[in-house]
Amino acid sequence: MPQPLWKVNEIFYSIQGEGRHVGMPAIFLRLAGCSMGCPWCDTKYAFDGGKEMNNLQVLVELSHFPCKTVIITGGEPTEQDLPALIKLLKSAGYAVHIETNGARDCDVNQADFVCVSPKKYVAKEMLQKADIIKLVVNTETDLEDLQKYYNYENEKTQIYLQPESNKEENIALCVKLAKAHPSARLSVQLHKLINIK
Ligand code: SF4
Repeated sequence: MPQPLWKVNEIFYSIQGEGRHVGMPAIFLRLAGCSMGCPWCDTKYAFDGGKEMNNLQVLVELSHFPCKTVIITGGEPTEQDLPALIKLLKSAGYAVHIETNGARDCDVNQADFVCVSPKKYVAKEMLQKADIIKLVVNTETDLEDLQKYYNYENEKTQIYLQPESNKEENIALCVKLAKAHPSARLSVQLHKLINIK
């Protein structure tokens, strides 16, 4: 069987700027490709191409950093063989976090943390597997529609409200929504505030 080849946009070491683990140093493994096409996407540069890397090349690249937590992001990680990638990283001793739009049901059971950020459509199975559901909110957001995600809150799954692009009006809206639904959390993008990658 041929060794998997991953299409990788970039691998870098930084600080998690969003969600429950904000402030945590982590290696970001950004896979290339996403077919969702959100107009305000801030990683459009990851849509096409990507460097082809095999398992060994990925592990060697990760080993350059003094950290054992990898955040697999994109693009959209489930558009490649994400379960195999999680298995690879777990077998190498990494804690594995996933950032996905949840559009397709995917086996993420071996991951240590799953963030689902629904966009135009989402698989309910992925909402059920999420540790956090991260809702990107702007002034165009259908607030009635947003409510449906609150039904997936439970002891494991928490809602995070993230103002799109840290815009002032979007932050104000998220603050208002969080205060009206206090089990939710505000997720301002820290990395953009402090101007790091
Ligand atoms: S799902 Fe995420 S990566 Fe894909 S287009 Fe939308 S914001 Fe960008």
